[in-house]
Amino acid sequence: MSYRWFPSLLRRAPLAVVLALSLLAAPGAIAETHDAPWHLAHGFRNLDNGYSYTLSGRAWGLLRRAVTRSPERGAPPGRVANDGATLRANGTHPTITWVGHATLLVQLAGVNVLTDPIWGDHVGPPLFGVHRLVPPGIRFEDLPRIHAVVISHDHYDHLDLPTVQRLARAHNPTFFVPLGLGAWLAERGITNVVELDWWQSQAFRGLTFTATPAQHSSGRGLLDQNERLWASWVISGDGRRFFFGGDTGYTPALAEIGKRLGPFDVAALPIGGYSAFTAKHPNHVNPEEAMQLFDDLRGRLLVPMHWGTFAMNREPFREPPTRLLAEALRRGEEERVALLSQGQSIDW
Ligand SMILES: [Zn+2]
Ligand SMILES: [Zn+2]
Repeated sequence: MSYRWFPSLLRRAPLAVVLALSLLAAPGAIAETHDAPWHLAHGFRNLDNGYSYTLSGRAWGLLRRAVTRSPERGAPPGRVANDGATLRANGTHPTITWVGHATLLVQLAGVNVLTDPIWGDHVGPPLFGVHRLVPPGIRFEDLPRIHAVVISHDHYDHLDLPTVQRLARAHNPTFFVPLGLGAWLAERGITNVVELDWWQSQAFRGLTFTATPAQHSSGRGLLDQNERLWASWVISGDGRRFFFGGDTGYTPALAEIGKRLGPFDVAALPIGGYSAFTAKHPNHVNPEEAMQLFDDLRGRLLVPMHWGTFAMNREPFREPPTRLLAEALRRGEEERVALLSQGQSIDW
């Protein structure tokens, strides 16, 4: 409908113009350093040599989106009530709760962990960004004591500064972050931080936290693109292994995580955010690629996330889970997909 199209153009066009102008200042290829293939002299790169997600390509994509109508998205998914009482009373029983988008509450061996926590109603830089469509599945005040937080990367829909500052004040958790985010958080008053490179591990309260690769990018603005590392995470202990995908595109290179650290009892993988590309999206798996990644990782139970929470992306709300379940059925793996509602908890 046109009343939707016009505000969308107003909202997106300025960012597209800024992105396009920034191309003039975009740096070229940067020399690798010698310590790891994904380290550059300034910033980081992906493992797949064919990866390409240039600012020019993104600027054109935004311009295209600004002048074309979005498909009807339908109603956002509902959520289930979760007052947190069972989670707060829980001792050592492993549970997972989908709070919304990439925010999960993971309980393992008496340790309560949040992934990419966001309780805000809006994500993005001032003047830009998107609003929340589904309230968090559990109220911030109803959370159990949070011992650890893992952050996948610095994009606004994964690293929400007001939420991490609120968590630091209310729970003083240890923040597990990829390289480069320690200094960023320290500048903002958060110093209880463990910063890891891909494949580095840290023991914590009987568990092991390991930063693992993802195919993605980073940046809060135009001038800090790929300066801080992006990661997926493995949390293991008490005979169980959990994988958190964060934000990632598909590359067979990620199978190495399954080889080294799998199989995983639960793999939480993103399934939304792919639709701006007609072909393969370099930064986001589509539902079929998510199933392939799940198999590559040697996952046993797939918990889908990164869909149906914010007014971002373009695919109709029901499309990612519908396509995921169809692909799971085709592979005979439908019983291995735990499609949660926001607020829903499961044992694992
Ligand atoms: Zn991202
Ligand atoms: Zn994201």
